[in-house]
Amino acid sequence: MKPDAEVLIVGAGPTGLMAAVLLTRCGITVRVFDKNTQQAHESRALAIQARTLELFLNLGLDRRMLDAGVIVHGAQMYENGQRRAELPFDDLGRTDTPFSFPLIVPQRDTEAILHDELRRLGVEVERQNEVTDLAQDADGVTLRVRGADGAETEARGAYLIGADGAHSLVRKKLGLTFAGAPYAQGFLLADCRVQWPLEDDRLMIFLKGKHIAIHFPLPGGEGRARIMAAQLTEPDAHATVESQGGTDAPLSEVEEAFRAAAGVDLTLTEPGWTSRYRVHHRGVDRYRVGRAFVAGDAAHIHSPAGGQGMNTGLQDAANLAWKLALALRRVGPATEGLLDTYHDERWPVGQRVLKYTDTLFSGMTSQSDWFAAARNFIAPRLAGSLLHFPGVRAKAFHFISQLGIHYKDDAPDPGKGPWKGGPDVGYRAPNASYARNRDVFGLLTGYRFHVLAFSWRALSSSEAAGICDRLAALLSPVGVTLQTHLVARLSGGPDARAQRAESGAAFEAYGVDHDTPQALYVIRPDGYVAWRSNTLDLTAAEGFLREYGSGSE
Ligand SMILES: Cc1cc2nc3c(=O)[nH]c(=O)nc-3n(C[C@H](O)[C@H](O)[C@H](O)COP(=O)(O)OP(=O)(O)OC[C@H]3O[C@@H](n4cnc5c(N)ncnc54)[C@H](O)[C@@H]3O)c2cc1C
Repeated sequence: MKPDAEVLIVGAGPTGLMAAVLLTRCGITVRVFDKNTQQAHESRALAIQARTLELFLNLGLDRRMLDAGVIVHGAQMYENGQRRAELPFDDLGRTDTPFSFPLIVPQRDTEAILHDELRRLGVEVERQNEVTDLAQDADGVTLRVRGADGAETEARGAYLIGADGAHSLVRKKLGLTFAGAPYAQGFLLADCRVQWPLEDDRLMIFLKGKHIAIHFPLPGGEGRARIMAAQLTEPDAHATVESQGGTDAPLSEVEEAFRAAAGVDLTLTEPGWTSRYRVHHRGVDRYRVGRAFVAGDAAHIHSPAGGQGMNTGLQDAANLAWKLALALRRVGPATEGLLDTYHDERWPVGQRVLKYTDTLFSGMTSQSDWFAAARNFIAPRLAGSLLHFPGVRAKAFHFISQLGIHYKDDAPDPGKGPWKGGPDVGYRAPNASYARNRDVFGLLTGYRFHVLAFSWRALSSSEAAGICDRLAALLSPVGVTLQTHLVARLSGGPDARAQRAESGAAFEAYGVDHDTPQALYVIRPDGYVAWRSNTLDLTAAEGFLREYGSGSE
């Protein structure tokens, strides 16, 4: 059977939509199936991490996210109704990202932005199409799909992405294990208006006895907020993953749980969405089986502590899409090694998120009397005094924002290797300005490969033109577009193709200085360094690009 799309995607949640947008941008044909009639209308995941915003910036969609969201300027921690700590988020100490703040965007808006983009690219999600079975062979994957009328058809593609959420059929059909357990604690959630004597534009954490609740300001202001209150549910260590998810909850119940934790008089009104949400922490053993891949909640589910869930799924998609594009378009040797790196790079990230959210969640929601008392006393005081230090704030933000994720465990710390400074292979390419209103992220756009050449040594006009000519002739990894840039001090007149460096920030961020006056970086579409050299060795760069993604890696 002939493939009717190059990549089949099961699930049009945030992960599936992002994968579809990125693959389509790479010129790959996709079909996206979702069993639901409509896009989700619940607010679900709220936190948008800086790394996710950088991905939206890369796609030119950051403005829409910022317009749809609310920037959180700080948090407050309350103990027994008394404010104990003020945590400022306005100065998080990171200059290597344009998004040095936490942003709240309801998941339905994030999905709507991706949905609009996918439609703009000419792809419609095939709704009311439930995937019921799959089979794969040496050449591709075949899905059985049940349409709205109950009739079953087949769809064929070269590769499959299972982005079908916590209850993933793809995961089950691939025989992947989903090790983990349910939490004894669940959540009561409500998007509503809060009437109370406190401020309403802050993230607030309330601790009282065993009760804990969080208030998130929602876009639009005027007291609209997401309330989350932890709730002890019957522990059932044998519960299957099917019990993960939400059911409606009466607003009065959320109000009662919130009041118990907040310790102040309050009323909740105008509920937009309420839920009793049961959480598991689980992860698959493998992200790839042959031509099929799992991503997002299909691969990892965890507590909402730290706002990592949806963000991790979006980054899974960003890591996988270009590898599939390269596998599909490359002429020449097989790309098996490159496709395996999806598991190699993203599985440890999923495991780390599981571990960290588990520690945070278990500590925050402990039901032991003595632990809760100690937590209530220590947590606000410790957080308040530690986050007072700019260095601690910057470190905490680096971790939570996912900016710190890298893909090379054995890499020397940047700054300790033979070439001091600059991101090593496997590390995120940072932002930095090189002139007024011009920065590196302004160059690294469009989810494509980029070659960044830096020259701290001043170049004459003819030198700059020569380098630009050679950059323009660089080979693209087949099928994935390559863009090249020269950021340089120019001693001659302006060259339309070279970026004149007027400040040293970009040189510093990329380790270029008096001792290393020139450098060359190949940046992957997902914003990580694929290769680098501390000379302008374009022949070596070309050799790397020629081999990249081939089986010889
Ligand atoms: C009630 C609730 C509250 C939540 N609250 C938070 C929160 O506060 N913070 C947080 O970080 N996260 C929260 N989450 C989790 C967050 O929503 C997920 O991390 C995120 O949605 C994962 O995105 P995804 O695209 O991987 O999967 P999903 O969003 O689950 O999307 C999967 C899609 O696949 C479709 N699908 C499934 N099976 C099939 C099939 N066989 N055939 C065709 N289509 C199929 C589904 O219809 C769905 O549209 C919440 C989730 C729920 C359910």
